[in-house]
Amino acid sequence: MAAKSEPTRILILGGGYVGLYTALGLQKKLGANEASVTIVDPQPHMTYQPFLPEAAAGSIEPRHVVVPLRRVLRRCHVLTARVNKIEHERKTVTVEAADGHIEQLGYDVLVVALGSVPRLLPIPGLAEQGIGIKTVGEAIYLRNHVLTKLDEASSTLDPDLRKRLLTFTVVGGGFAGIEALAELEDMTRDASTYYENIDPDDIRWVLVEAAGRILPEVRDTLGVWTVEQLEKRGIEVYLSTAAKSFENGHVVLSDGTEFDSDTIIWTAGVKANPVVAESDLPSDKRGRLEATAALNVVGHPDVWTSGDVSAVPDLSRTEEDPTATCPPNAQHAVRQARHLSKNIIASLRGGKPTDYYHKNLGAVAGLGLHKGVADAMKMKIKGFPAWLFHRAYHVHAMPTFNRKVRIMLDWALGGLFKRETISLGQINNPKEEFNRASKS
Ligand SMILES: Cc1cc2nc3c(=O)[nH]c(=O)nc-3n(C[C@H](O)[C@H](O)[C@H](O)COP(=O)(O)OP(=O)(O)OC[C@H]3O[C@@H](n4cnc5c(N)ncnc54)[C@H](O)[C@@H]3O)c2cc1C
Repeated sequence: MAAKSEPTRILILGGGYVGLYTALGLQKKLGANEASVTIVDPQPHMTYQPFLPEAAAGSIEPRHVVVPLRRVLRRCHVLTARVNKIEHERKTVTVEAADGHIEQLGYDVLVVALGSVPRLLPIPGLAEQGIGIKTVGEAIYLRNHVLTKLDEASSTLDPDLRKRLLTFTVVGGGFAGIEALAELEDMTRDASTYYENIDPDDIRWVLVEAAGRILPEVRDTLGVWTVEQLEKRGIEVYLSTAAKSFENGHVVLSDGTEFDSDTIIWTAGVKANPVVAESDLPSDKRGRLEATAALNVVGHPDVWTSGDVSAVPDLSRTEEDPTATCPPNAQHAVRQARHLSKNIIASLRGGKPTDYYHKNLGAVAGLGLHKGVADAMKMKIKGFPAWLFHRAYHVHAMPTFNRKVRIMLDWALGGLFKRETISLGQINNPKEEFNRASKS
């Protein structure tokens, strides 16, 4: 009698949007005798990035914007580890596990869902002074850091230091930058009402954008409208301006403007996770994995990819531009992942993968409490309705019923009692008190 064949080993690299949704699709449809699914991520959770600005601003509890992988992927193996190397010729992936040991993992089918990393430029002082907003750790840090600056400013006797502490700089006018800027500015305005000696007008928020407009995801007129709204709130917007230096917190811009700022939030774009460009899989000039419309890596029917790490042809636009690829956003990542899991299942069962097609539905951004902008379904939506739309869309898109309910409860509590504007600054230096005690 022929031996029963072993289940196919499917290895998913990255547990973000694409990794989580692909694994959910596979665990739902595949039997244990068909495949074993392993997902590798250095974090034990998926992060719902569009909610990070609201988590930083205190409208949502940070724990609620992440989805625990082990809890929702009960039929998959979850490995907390960082992928260091992909060698497809040997069908091997090298990972560094959470305890630091190095391990090699074999596979039959590979899914590369490693997302993107911040695109940094060689600007003096950026690496030392800057911080992004792409992880829940950064959101928590930023919240406490920004609120701690208000505490420090309220107590300093040095007027120059006070100015520096109350100057917050955001570089990059895409989704992430504008939402982070607008949410955090809103939070500092709220928080300032509790300080006897800080007026909202003492707080300076600065946006620096190299292009001539912000929010390229929405129509030009909405980008212009958003700039007007930000300026009405007292936010300084520098368009067509590049940051030249951040050395020691001294900001120098290409138009000659100079000022000191203790907070520099860098959101000037992302690039594909560099692990793929260093692998033996084909990547394009921008370091993205070259993908077919069926979401295979070009020339490798047993390797699949989607999301920010990949260059997937955008079939809705290839008639006007044959080289068009899907933009790196959640709208595509989620849909591609669902499609990807169906294609993997079809291939395993001897079927034929189908092409991914999605026409952009538009974009929506929150601009702080009760404020937003949206360009969706051919409609331009501004202000309160856009903010409601933003919340409705994202709570609908948030994975798991559990997280949706927790987030709506956070919003309800914030509506009843106002959001929390207290700094838990000790989180950024938790050993301080213990060390002090050990010396006394
Ligand atoms: C602040 C912010 C707001 C946003 N708002 C919107 C929005 O409103 N609408 C929208 O459409 N899009 C938005 N986006 C973009 C959207 O979140 C991304 O396009 C989406 O997350 C891409 O999904 P992904 O699975 O490709 O990558 P990710 O979701 O980033 O997942 C990548 C995963 O890979 C893991 N990983 C990284 N390196 C390794 C490694 N070496 N080994 C193993 N695992 C690794 C990471 O931990 C992560 O879990 C926003 C992004 C940010 C940062």
